[in-house]
Amino acid sequence: MPGGAARELVGGSKVLFEASATERFTARAGVSVAEAVALYAAPLEELASAVAAAQAAPRPGRILHVARLEYGNICANACPHCAQSRPPMAADAVLLSPEEVARRAAMLAELRPHHVHLVGRWHPGHTFSYVLDTLAAVREALPDTLIEGLSAQQVYDLAEAEKLSVDTVLERLRDAGLTRLTGDGGEVFSSRVRDVLCPRKITGGRWLHVMRRAHALGITSTASMTFGHLETPREKAEHLALIRDLQEESGGFEAYWPEPLADGYRTRAVGNPPTAEDFLRELGIGRIMLPTIPRVQCRFVPPMTLEFLAQAPAFGADEIVCLTCFRAASDSPEIADIEPVRAALGL
Ligand code: SF4
Repeated sequence: MPGGAARELVGGSKVLFEASATERFTARAGVSVAEAVALYAAPLEELASAVAAAQAAPRPGRILHVARLEYGNICANACPHCAQSRPPMAADAVLLSPEEVARRAAMLAELRPHHVHLVGRWHPGHTFSYVLDTLAAVREALPDTLIEGLSAQQVYDLAEAEKLSVDTVLERLRDAGLTRLTGDGGEVFSSRVRDVLCPRKITGGRWLHVMRRAHALGITSTASMTFGHLETPREKAEHLALIRDLQEESGGFEAYWPEPLADGYRTRAVGNPPTAEDFLRELGIGRIMLPTIPRVQCRFVPPMTLEFLAQAPAFGADEIVCLTCFRAASDSPEIADIEPVRAALGL
């Protein structure tokens, strides 16, 4: 495993001989759930030191311009907090034709994004053939671009609706042009949290199963964890440990990104909204807990600010993601302003 070498390097670094409790966490082959829980209470400076010690050979940081292309904004899952989706009968509910999605993809290609992130949510009426046609149309418009899209939830729901196996759905998505499955929808695997936050979503076990099968079929993915709602440190540490276990088995996660449930993404209070410091902490703990996942991404979204973003690399973020968003209900994209990010990071 690539992680084996990384862990040896971590274990062989000089932090083995220093006294700080947080540094000791990094001196073993990964950290336990209990140790990760303790990291949630550590001062941020100590966490940054532990991240530095854990990264024997940190990857160089880079800015990733990602074009987020929505083909629809309708979602029947109706998660109680969601401010991003529309119910099927809403006046501004939209499901674009494959041709229109492809036309928008071609517009986005002119911005030369690193990849296109295709977002569709769960529309109760959209069929598998619609999804395949849309994917194929985008692939035709962007023959050389990495296409990330569809979530484990969508794969599972398509399999249920079409009475197909998860493997068959994944194979057909891959053959239509999908390069990478998005880690969206992982939330926090705890059933206690999911019962309140997203009661209609698949369980964490099913999310992991879809990812395991995708990796086995040659489709890589990202992994995510939503924070800043009802979750406890232990539930987050357990979530990360399950992702780490699957990565040990499959090696298919290319990047991990913590996703803040910040104001603007929630329609009503679910716990305390996260702060920029909370965001840095999640980056750092993710980096330490997931030594075999190559990249940790920091999406430049609220509550992150330019001031705090400059600290993100010290907490293990080696990909700063700037998002251009083309919303389904809009006629033009909101283009990412990358220059201030470049200046803040000195890149
Ligand atoms: S959070 Fe995701 S699954 Fe839930 S309603 Fe919003 S878009 Fe749908």
